[in-house]
Amino acid sequence: MIGRVSSALAFLANDARGLLSALETLAIAAVVFAALAFAVKGRRSLADAKAAAGETRVNAVISFVDQLVVSPLVAIVIAWLTTAARDRGMVLPTAPLWSSLPPVPTLLAAVFLGDFVGYWRHRAQHLKWLWPAHAIHHSDTRLTWFSLERMHPVDRLGSALDTVVLAALGAPFWAQAGNVFVRHYYGYLIHADLPWTFGKAGWILNAPAMHRWHHARDVQGSGSNFATVFSVFDRAFGTFYLPGPCEAPLGVREDMGRGALGQYLHPFRVWLAALSPARRKAILPAE
Ligand SMILES: [Zn+2]
Ligand SMILES: [Zn+2]
Repeated sequence: MIGRVSSALAFLANDARGLLSALETLAIAAVVFAALAFAVKGRRSLADAKAAAGETRVNAVISFVDQLVVSPLVAIVIAWLTTAARDRGMVLPTAPLWSSLPPVPTLLAAVFLGDFVGYWRHRAQHLKWLWPAHAIHHSDTRLTWFSLERMHPVDRLGSALDTVVLAALGAPFWAQAGNVFVRHYYGYLIHADLPWTFGKAGWILNAPAMHRWHHARDVQGSGSNFATVFSVFDRAFGTFYLPGPCEAPLGVREDMGRGALGQYLHPFRVWLAALSPARRKAILPAE
């Protein structure tokens, strides 16, 4: 009993330490992106930040819950799945290949493969049965760097697939973590309220304007641009769309209410309602 209590306390202490360092990182990101927005848009960036305050509050609640509860649980699920895969011999014997590469190419390979898996995982999240959970991420009508934090726990669990596949491909643990780190911070950049298309670099890299089109509502271009870091996958598989900076309205058709609670409940409401075949057609969006 005492052992259980002390391990629960150790878990909570660890969780609190993780939360503090996550809050520190978010504060740094907030300063960096506010400075960037001011450098690019001047005083308009202040008006834009004010207009986004309501959406930012929802993102803050979801982010806090995510750091405190969801992220530690997702980490446990990833550890469990990767250990189970290793114990059952489901990991490719590629360790010599990975260890023959210097660190930078190893990290690049992990990010490239992670982004490839993420591209298809994200396309799957737009299919009708997974969309109700992913719609939460798309419901932010004022996209900012912080919108990346608006993820339903079910959606976050789905994103764990990228790491599990990398582990099954034999990538070293540090490269799996590096993939998460690089793509997470690049994710902040592509959600930032910046009109950048990256010019010629956009042939290879995803840009904020490109991802803004992904979040556009009911216009040509919404449902395009699925990858996080590289634009090459969208180009290769016919989902690339970038006519220029995106001024289209953002968000989703679904009404989830204003607060974070409505966002958390939305997919469960849809899935429960869809159990009734008569209502299924009306509730679930067409693929
Ligand atoms: Zn999406
Ligand atoms: Zn997004």
